[in-house]
Amino acid sequence: MDFGDNEDIAALRDLLQRFIVREATPEMAARWDREDHIEREMLVKLAGLGVCALTVPQEFGGMGRRVIETVVTIVELAKRSTALAGLYIMNACYGSLNLASEGTDEQKQRFLPRLLSGETLFAYGLSEPDVGADLSSVTTRAERRGDTVVINGRKRWCAGANFADHILMLVRSGEAEARYRNLSIVLVPTDAPGLTLEPAGAMGVRGIPVNDVLLDEVEVPFANVLGGEAKWNEGWSLLAGPALEIEKLETPALALGVAEAAVAEAWEYSQQRRQFGAAICTIQSIRHMLSDVQTKLQACRLMLMSAAWKVDQGLPSAVDTSMAKLFVSDTARDIVLTCQQVLGAYGYAHGFAMERYVRDALVMPIWGGSSAIQKNNIANLMRLPRK
Ligand SMILES: Cc1cc2nc3c(=O)[nH]c(=O)nc-3n(C[C@H](O)[C@H](O)[C@H](O)COP(=O)(O)OP(=O)(O)OC[C@H]3O[C@@H](n4cnc5c(N)ncnc54)[C@H](O)[C@@H]3O)c2cc1C
Repeated sequence: MDFGDNEDIAALRDLLQRFIVREATPEMAARWDREDHIEREMLVKLAGLGVCALTVPQEFGGMGRRVIETVVTIVELAKRSTALAGLYIMNACYGSLNLASEGTDEQKQRFLPRLLSGETLFAYGLSEPDVGADLSSVTTRAERRGDTVVINGRKRWCAGANFADHILMLVRSGEAEARYRNLSIVLVPTDAPGLTLEPAGAMGVRGIPVNDVLLDEVEVPFANVLGGEAKWNEGWSLLAGPALEIEKLETPALALGVAEAAVAEAWEYSQQRRQFGAAICTIQSIRHMLSDVQTKLQACRLMLMSAAWKVDQGLPSAVDTSMAKLFVSDTARDIVLTCQQVLGAYGYAHGFAMERYVRDALVMPIWGGSSAIQKNNIANLMRLPRK
C-alpha cells in the first residue's frame, strides 16, 4: 500500500504550500471568512498550478482521475482556508469528476476544457427546505417539454450558487411512486430566467455562501440532463455512482486540513504563551492535550489516505469512504475543540484563526452525509442483519 507519500505527492504538497504562502495569506483567509466571499480569480490561479487537471481525463488535457492527489490538494488548501478548498471542490469534484464520469460526450466536450482552465464552477443543488438526508424524496419538479426541461421548486443550502455558472441539481422528473426512481440531475445555468437566489448565511465554512435557489418555470435545454436521454429518470444511479466514493472523501479532507491548521497553531502558541514563569507547553495537561491531538491527527491522515488509495486502485471502497467520512469529521471536530482550549481565551476571541477553525470544524459531521447516516451505511454495507 502506497498512501501517496512518494516524491510526486511531496512535490504536490510543496507546490501548494509555496502557492499558499505567496497567494493566499492569513489576512486573505480571514477576509474571505469575514466577508463571506472569495474571489473567483483564485480558482484561475489554482488552475495555473495544474491541480484542476487532477480530475479531468487525459483526452481532455487532464491527468486522469488522481484521487490521492485530489484529496491532498483539498487538505493543503483547507489548512489555509475552507473557502479556497471549497472553490477547488466546486470545480474539480462537483464539476469535473461528475462530468467525466457521468456526462455525455457532448457534455464532456462542452464543460471539461473550461473546468480544466478554472473558468467554470458548479454548485450542488441537492437539499431542499424539507429534504436533508432523505434526498430521494426531493420535490423540485422537472417536466419534459420537447427539447427542454422546465423546473419549478426550491433548493436550500446551495453553497456558492451566487458565483457558480451551473447548479448540478437533483430533481423529481416523474411520479414519486417508487423510491430512488424518477429522479434526474440537470445542469441548471445560474443565469437562467426564473432562477433567483436568497442568501441564507451560516456560522462557518464562510467564503462560499449558502443560498436558497427559487425556480419558477426555469427552462433548460434537455441537453443539460446529466447523462442525457439514458439517465432521464435514472438520476439516482448517478448520485450513488462512482463520484460518490470521492465525494465522501471531500469533507474528511477539508476536516483534516482544518484540524492540521488548528494543531499547528496550538503547538506554536503553547511555546510562546507563558504563565507561572514558564511556557504553557511545560504544563503536563497541555502536553497531554497536544500529544492527544497529534495522535488523532495521524489516525485521521491514515484513515483518509487509505480510503483514497482504495478508490484510486478501483478496489471496493464504500465502507472505507464512509468510515473516513465518519471518523475524520468527528475526530477533526474534537481535535479543534481541544486546540481551542490550549489557546484559552484567545481561542474564543474574534481576530484569531482558531475561532474560525472551530466554526468550520463543527459542520463536518453534519453535512455531506451526517455521521449518523455514515453509521447506517457502514452497518448496512457490512451486512449487519436488520429487523
Ligand atoms: C454550510 C452548509 C453548506 C451546505 N452546502 C450544501 C450544498 O452546497 N448543496 C446541498 O445540496 N446541500 C448542502 N448542505 C446541506 C447538507 O448537506 C445537509 O445539511 C445534510 O444533508 C443533512 O441534512 P439536514 O441538515 O437537513 O438534516 P436532516 O436530514 O433533517 O437530519 C437531522 C438529524 O437527524 C439525523 N438523521 C436523519 N435521518 C437519519 C437516519 N435515517 N438515521 C439516523 N439519523 C438520521 C441526522 O444525522 C441529523 O442529526 C449544506 C449544509 C450546510 C450547513
